[in-house]
Amino acid sequence: MVESQSLVGKVALITGGSRGIGASIAKEVAKRGAEVVINYNSNKEAADEVINEIEQFGGTAVSFQADVSNYEQSRSLVEQTIDQFGKIDILINNAGITRDRTFKKLSENEWKEVIDTNLNSVYHTTSAVINPMLEQKFGRIINISSFIGQKGGFGQTNYSAAKAGMIGFTKSLALETARRGITVNAVCPGYIETEMVAAIPEDAKEQIIATIPMQRLGTTSEIADAVLFLANNSYMTGQCLNINGGVYM
Ligand code: NDP
Repeated sequence: MVESQSLVGKVALITGGSRGIGASIAKEVAKRGAEVVINYNSNKEAADEVINEIEQFGGTAVSFQADVSNYEQSRSLVEQTIDQFGKIDILINNAGITRDRTFKKLSENEWKEVIDTNLNSVYHTTSAVINPMLEQKFGRIINISSFIGQKGGFGQTNYSAAKAGMIGFTKSLALETARRGITVNAVCPGYIETEMVAAIPEDAKEQIIATIPMQRLGTTSEIADAVLFLANNSYMTGQCLNINGGVYM
């Protein structure tokens, strides 16, 4: 590890840090020395497993339950984190869900659930951390968006709207905070091997892989790498890092 990659002394909050991409980010950030809060919604066991792994290599992590689609729960998640570790340096807005359905059949509930969990959650957590970050004159806000927010996706009007919204949010907040020591960036993964993608039927998955120039799914650690870069870099803001095997250029 080069010195500049150290996150010793930093506190990171990762929403949806118990599984998939979020779990990988939590482990990598903890490996660099940050104290980590792993947020989960329903699966405490998964969060505990990540904590065990982190503790095994001598890292520090706790888990807090909160449904980040809910404003009050998100604010109390941020408060709990600050009570526990005194501050938040790095906020990674990663929690997300899909409810794929062609628009004709999409219910209002499926629309709202996806917008609330993927996009409104970003407002909920970020609005709670922004004042403490402005006061400490340091912050790294990293939003896990998706290439679907850039290129669209069949049966994904709700998800695509939420992920595109995250990119607009990222750029606008980056403008407002650029002079205050806070960077705001997004990562746009392509198809990554997690439970979210495991839910896709095998034959459809093969068809998807055929469309990816690198002819394979990405790994969660390839996304965690990008997050580490953004957590460390102090001159990049308002950007979207595309980590997608070439599926969207
Ligand atoms: P997973 O389904 O593997 O994990 C989702 C995580 O989010 C879990 O930890 C889950 O916790 C948590 N979560 C879900 N809803 C909530 C909620 N309301 N409040 C708090 N936590 C919640 O997803 P991935 O790792 O695949 O995806 C992570 C992010 O990356 C998402 O934003 C997704 O949209 C994005 N992404 C994923 C891609 C992929 O191919 N996998 C591609 C592009 C972007 P719990 O189990 O407790 O509910």
